[in-house]
Amino acid sequence: MNFNIAVIAGDGIGPEIVREARKVLETIGIKFGHTFNYTDILMGGCSIDAYGVPLSDEALAIAKASDSVLLGAVGGNVGNSKWYDVAPNLRPEAGLLKIRKELELFANIRPAYLYDELKDACPLKNEIIGEGFDMVIMRELTGGLYFGERHTEKVDGVWKATDILTYDENEIRRIAIKAFEIAMKRNKRVISVDKANVLDSSRLWRKVVKEVSIDYPEVTLADMLVDNCAMQLVMNPGQFDVILTENMFGDILSDEASMVTGSIGMLSSASLGKTKLGLYEPSHGSAPDIAGKNIANPIATILSAAMMLRYSFDLDKEADAVEAAVKQVLKEDYRTGDIMSEGMKKVSTTQMGDLVAERV
Ligand code: NAD
Repeated sequence: MNFNIAVIAGDGIGPEIVREARKVLETIGIKFGHTFNYTDILMGGCSIDAYGVPLSDEALAIAKASDSVLLGAVGGNVGNSKWYDVAPNLRPEAGLLKIRKELELFANIRPAYLYDELKDACPLKNEIIGEGFDMVIMRELTGGLYFGERHTEKVDGVWKATDILTYDENEIRRIAIKAFEIAMKRNKRVISVDKANVLDSSRLWRKVVKEVSIDYPEVTLADMLVDNCAMQLVMNPGQFDVILTENMFGDILSDEASMVTGSIGMLSSASLGKTKLGLYEPSHGSAPDIAGKNIANPIATILSAAMMLRYSFDLDKEADAVEAAVKQVLKEDYRTGDIMSEGMKKVSTTQMGDLVAERV
């Protein structure tokens, strides 16, 4: 099959890690008989330098016309990059917000998976880790508190700030459907997280999610309050398969879940919308402190490419092959600097990409 991928290498380590993900995709193409056509576009600081804007209309049009978008990362050193002291809409990260909005990517999926070989990096005790954990957080990305009306006013001489949290049933339904579809490809368990003991929006959330669940009889649904979920993630992370939640709760819980894996260089993410077109990127940023040194871990980006194969192209076997190759390389004790420990074999960004491609 033929697939068109818009590639945004971005800033910092972006070009180095994206190059390795492409290397792995190329191998998948050869092994399984697919052709991946790449169109490179600029976004972030590099686009500001070239065109004066973080994402040009031309680049956006290419992304919209492609089957999928693969992204490295954007942004410079926080606090002292040349793109820092400029208007918010001209900062590198504005490109990211624009592309998410324009592609209507309302569902963000972040897996949190603990590799046996990296258990030492997990900050939890062994008895809590147990058999390990393998979950995804499905976060609503374009509604809720972050997109509601807000204002600050002085009332009777006292400053007062208001942020409004709104969800309509359609916004809840479409993300719930995504969560159940992903659960069908995994262990068929959804835990929907809300604050239904307090918030009306959560009560509507719970009702709509339950309605959606009727169409997925093979999937088990349970509800959990967000404060309990925050505790359960560090007490018993093995119980989760798919966590479905709204924007702000998902923002906080997905960071908590990724931190308990202990290795930011390993964590992929996908943002999906109504169509199959998705945006796939590592969970980490552009790591300007290590850019250009060929030492960044490319695995998060390689695993993001695997998510692209699975969720945008429906190539499950091919995605499995990439994930198995990553596991194999770790089993053979190869490590980039960020996940290095005593007795392991230290490799560069390029070598790690080569190893995963070879194991594929
Ligand atoms: P960061 O994730 O870039 O780096 C945090 C730390 O993790 C650094 O020490 C870095 O060296 C290390 N690290 C990150 N990825 C790594 C990898 N693949 N291999 C090895 N080590 C890795 O976060 P930051 O320093 O807070 O942000 C840097 C820039 O990235 C900022 O401009 C920020 O806005 C941007 N950012 C972009 C995205 C995105 O493009 N989606 C996401 C987050 C941050």
